[in-house]
Amino acid sequence: MAARTRRSGGSGGSLGSERVVVALGGNAIVPAGRTGTADEQTASIAAAMAGLAGVIAGGVRQVVLTHGNGPQVGNLLLKNELARDVVPPVPLDWCVAQTQATIGFTLANALGDELAGHGAPRTVVPLVSRVLVAADDPAFSAPTKPVGPRITDEAEVERRRRTGQTFAATAAGWRRTVPSPTPLASLELEVIRDLLDGGAVVVANGGGGVPTVRGDDGRLRGVEAVIDKDLAGALLATELGADRFVILTDVRGVAVGYGTPEERWLGEVPVAELRALAASGAFGVGSMGPKVEAACRFVEAGGDSAVIASLDEVGPALEGRVGTRVVGDRP
Ligand code: ADP
Ligand code: MG
Repeated sequence: MAARTRRSGGSGGSLGSERVVVALGGNAIVPAGRTGTADEQTASIAAAMAGLAGVIAGGVRQVVLTHGNGPQVGNLLLKNELARDVVPPVPLDWCVAQTQATIGFTLANALGDELAGHGAPRTVVPLVSRVLVAADDPAFSAPTKPVGPRITDEAEVERRRRTGQTFAATAAGWRRTVPSPTPLASLELEVIRDLLDGGAVVVANGGGGVPTVRGDDGRLRGVEAVIDKDLAGALLATELGADRFVILTDVRGVAVGYGTPEERWLGEVPVAELRALAASGAFGVGSMGPKVEAACRFVEAGGDSAVIASLDEVGPALEGRVGTRVVGDRP
């Protein structure tokens, strides 16, 4: 993980001098069970930004937003397949960039309006942003991340396999799988810093960032992969020397025994203890697992605290008063 330059200390209390990175889950944008029309997505984003704006207007100095894009990329991939005989399909990195643009401008409109409504106008800048991964990341030879809709037609799976796509069987059909390489560096980092210093709120590394490799010829190019958005958020929070990294999702935090009668929600937890729980398989693969990993990476790299909490409690979450708060190991 990137070297960290510490800016200021402080755990909890005043947010006035802080730099905070906030990751929004996909459910903030397309709630489970919804189809995700443009109007629905715009309305969900507006609701999420109303809560966030109140906290930012209360005096958080520097804010970077990042966001998921799973349902949106799934829809673009489906369009690719349905229209392939009419319009050439576009690669996955193009789909990620497209969702950064559409989700980004919608976030910017909503958050900008809300901040103005609080009498605390700020420029909100959505960036199409790239994240560097290693061309020889082992994930490229083992695509494991499911993307796009479930497919039940086996002939369709066979046809697409011949085009180089890979698939995994699930209980309800097949799903396309893609590599999910480790994020190494946020390529827009310097401009993000400049924008923050200029007073803007920045939307960056959405959907994990556009996966980018440097070829043997030294040139950058997009690759077909999906970087985990929680890990890309943790990377950016570390690179920026953020005071706090906040992951907002659709549950109140991290639970041990999730969904069982013994369910126990974690409050403040030292990173080593959370790592041990993760190693015992306590957290959902592909859901809570990556959030826990991201929170641990941020704190292990020197971050003060990482919070995993519900989007409904954005204010108290940013102040570290609710949810699961991951902190450094006390001696
Ligand atoms: P997001 O869209 O915010 O990334 P995810 O669906 O990926 O959301 O992850 C949040 C989900 O993780 C919750 O809705 C919950 O069902 C699931 N989950 C799995 N294991 C746990 C756990 N141990 N504690 C809390 N939630 C868990
Ligand atoms: Mg997720």
